[in-house]
Amino acid sequence: MEHSVVMKFGGSSVESIEKMQAIAQRIIKKKSEFRHVVVVVSAMGKTTNQLLALAKQAAKYPSKREIDMLISTGEQVSISLLTMILNELGEQAIALTGFQAGIKTSGLHTKNKILDIDISKIENYLNTNHLVVVAGFQGLNEQGDITTLGRGGSDTTAVALAAKLGCTAEIYTDVDGIYGVDPRLYPEAKKLDVITYEEMKEMAFLGAKVMEPRSIEIGQRYKVPIYVASSQNNHTGTLIKEYTKVEEKSITGLSISEKVMMVTIMNFSARSSDIATLFVALAENEVNVDMISQTPAGEGLINLAFTAGADDLEAINEVLEKITARYEGLDVIKNMNVVKISVVGTGMRTQSGVAAELFKLLADHQIEFRLVTTSEISISYTIDKKHMKKTVEVISSHFGL
Ligand code: ADP
Ligand code: ASP
Ligand code: MG
Repeated sequence: MEHSVVMKFGGSSVESIEKMQAIAQRIIKKKSEFRHVVVVVSAMGKTTNQLLALAKQAAKYPSKREIDMLISTGEQVSISLLTMILNELGEQAIALTGFQAGIKTSGLHTKNKILDIDISKIENYLNTNHLVVVAGFQGLNEQGDITTLGRGGSDTTAVALAAKLGCTAEIYTDVDGIYGVDPRLYPEAKKLDVITYEEMKEMAFLGAKVMEPRSIEIGQRYKVPIYVASSQNNHTGTLIKEYTKVEEKSITGLSISEKVMMVTIMNFSARSSDIATLFVALAENEVNVDMISQTPAGEGLINLAFTAGADDLEAINEVLEKITARYEGLDVIKNMNVVKISVVGTGMRTQSGVAAELFKLLADHQIEFRLVTTSEISISYTIDKKHMKKTVEVISSHFGL
């Protein structure tokens, strides 16, 4: 009998009592294979979104501390219900909040990071043969306040617990594993048997929401095998691990980031001190600027374009108001109808010409892009939303994703 395992079930997998009852059977089966089983669950269905919508009704700018207080309740509902179901089936099970599970965090409210986990309480229950059901997505900071780990953060809870217990994290979700591209956007997408931490991390950071990026970072650092599979069937899923010796493709996957906006400031000063003033103001307002480009626009002037998360619109507006008041003759264009499409693959390190192949592919299909950036293992394009589907299809079918 193997020692320990962490199983994580996402929102759609626990959206109803019936689904929880089905999951309980999977957990009980696991318990016959492993001495210790820890279960991490997300909030039921779309609960977190609904709670956030309520906060928006309550206040224009709700305090982030209170948002954490509110949205952390979703997971408390699902852990208690799942535990009741397990008890009803005759199992010894106990529900623990993030705090009770010893999850210590720090950072900005709604974006906390796990600092450490005091695993002693969980271990006590495991040693007395309990199934331990832990609330994902939440922890407690040094001030003793409830915190959350950013959207999708239950993945992070699961992988961090697996790191602490020295075992595998099994992530059960509503797809059969990791695909080359989101199967909802490209139904012909192929499932990957394995993917490296490095590629999965890049895909996640670039928008593949199937895994929360920081969970992969933790998995990589502590060498936690992460297995992603369906909570509805027993199809073989995808293993995320260190370097794999599979055939090196130039491109492993494609990610889409839809919550993007692009800002163009026409006739901005070309002086580096003025450009610095703008980006410092954006950084101070917690705007995470992504792609940047500048093109000459007459004597001492440039047209400056950058992209950021669409959620940052209000923070960007605040900065732009100040900047346009300070400099004369600026023309600001905000474009919310853009998306970022990125291709990812460690094969790009060794294979030349991938960028050229992509540029040609887009040109052949008359797909225009606005900005482009590259990293060592990825190339990202900002394109108009209306070209998204076509671009995904063209790239995915060309590279056999
Ligand atoms: P959970 O609630 O289980 O955490 P999520 O909704 O966070 O589930 O993540 C699963 C979803 O991720 C899938 O329904 C799928 O649409 C999306 N997804 C995006 N990119 C990929 C990909 N490359 N492979 C598989 N699923 C993906
Ligand atoms: N319930 C949280 C969210 O919707 C955490 C998670 O699902 O992983 O973001
Ligand atoms: Mg998720």
